[in-house]
Amino acid sequence: MRYHNITKDDMLNGDGLRVVLWVAGCSHCCKGCHNPVTWDPDGGLLFDEKAKKEIFDQLDKSYISGITFSGGDPLHSANRSEVQNFAKEVKEKYPDKTIWLYTGALWEQIYEEPVMQYLDVVVDGEFIQAQKDNTLLWKGSKNQRVINVQASLVQTDPRDPVLHCKDYASVSDREADTGRMACEGQVSCGCDS
Ligand code: SF4
Repeated sequence: MRYHNITKDDMLNGDGLRVVLWVAGCSHCCKGCHNPVTWDPDGGLLFDEKAKKEIFDQLDKSYISGITFSGGDPLHSANRSEVQNFAKEVKEKYPDKTIWLYTGALWEQIYEEPVMQYLDVVVDGEFIQAQKDNTLLWKGSKNQRVINVQASLVQTDPRDPVLHCKDYASVSDREADTGRMACEGQVSCGCDS
């Protein structure tokens, strides 16, 4: 697996302050993608022990809520198995920290992936420019879903996802967002419904 960046104290890619791993490799080619430089799976840097240590040094800090896998697509075939192994390692080492993952794939296509047992939240779906809204919570376009992975997996039909939070954080926007389910998350996303 290769990666482009590790960002620290990130407030934009999940609850709390997080460390974010931006992996290389994505085949979704969304129009208006915020990060096309990450599409090439051979781009960036090798994800090695030094990169892992950099992440662990961040996760050792009490104020860091967890790690977010982004990119690129962490579930691209070039990344899937190493992301799974690393997510397992993080979950075992830091059981109280949360793991988020952004992917262009749909939940219905990926919910059976073994990596899901280690994840708290998945933000799914391609970025659709016509549905872009800068005020959405944790996602770029309205079609995407912020999914509570563990709550979804124990559903009678796990293909029907339980959402971690609604589309928006503010009260007024929440009230307008009548089609979404209430926050079911293990961790706070800023909505209190
Ligand atoms: S899935 Fe994400 S990284 Fe991949 S093309 Fe779409 S917006 Fe860009």
